[in-house]
Amino acid sequence: MVNVDGLLLDIDGVLAVSWEPIPGSIEAIDRLRKVGIPFRLITNTTTRTRAALAETLRAAGFDVAPGDLVTAVNATAAYLRAHHAGARAFVLSDGDAASDLEGVELVGVDQADVVVIGGACEDFTHATLNRVFRRLMEGAPLVGMHRNLYWRTSEGLELDGGAYIAGLEEAAGIAATICGKPSAAFFESALSLLRVPAARAAMVGDDIVNDVLGAQAAGMTGVLVRTGKFLESDLAKGRPDHVIGSLADLAGLLEV
Ligand SMILES: [Mg+2]
Repeated sequence: MVNVDGLLLDIDGVLAVSWEPIPGSIEAIDRLRKVGIPFRLITNTTTRTRAALAETLRAAGFDVAPGDLVTAVNATAAYLRAHHAGARAFVLSDGDAASDLEGVELVGVDQADVVVIGGACEDFTHATLNRVFRRLMEGAPLVGMHRNLYWRTSEGLELDGGAYIAGLEEAAGIAATICGKPSAAFFESALSLLRVPAARAAMVGDDIVNDVLGAQAAGMTGVLVRTGKFLESDLAKGRPDHVIGSLADLAGLLEV
């Protein structure tokens, strides 16, 4: 069993796939509320704002509010305000990140002081990525909302922004700063909201690298679910503290 005072839960692939609840996940959240274990939903999802994400989850049947969510876009905005104050940013990402990037001036790639890569989408064309590459060669720093390589949709696995970040880093000979998972700072800021130390908290996710190994590196217990993007080959990439079939098995693991 796992004895913790707080939990961080990934959303995509743990609560839902393509916003369809995974069987048992709605009840698992209700159970956590009932037994009073505090949690936050910590996500690298960049397609929707925090408010829209909470609304989507509520519509799907989850008892969550915007305050329960911590997103990589929020973390990126905080990082840019702290470390690149006043800088003009080019953001290449899916979805509607602008309202969660409050205080950050958004410009075209050729005017950018800093380049931000988020979730992959059709905008990730060779032409745009080549302009990004040139900007990086001219000295602009590279910031990643996350380093996810792929995720699972209802149509299958899909390549994500982390794959492009890896290519840009290699080509430009630079290292990106990552703001979302698996950055320890992201886990720590979410835990500070719970007021629970890492040693007394567990992270539940479907991404062995970004969720589980990232959380373990930050001092947390790492729990991998066999839903979402999980592949059997993930178990060769690291050693989760626990592996469960789905979020429906969490209560049993916690013995609550
Ligand atoms: Mg996930």
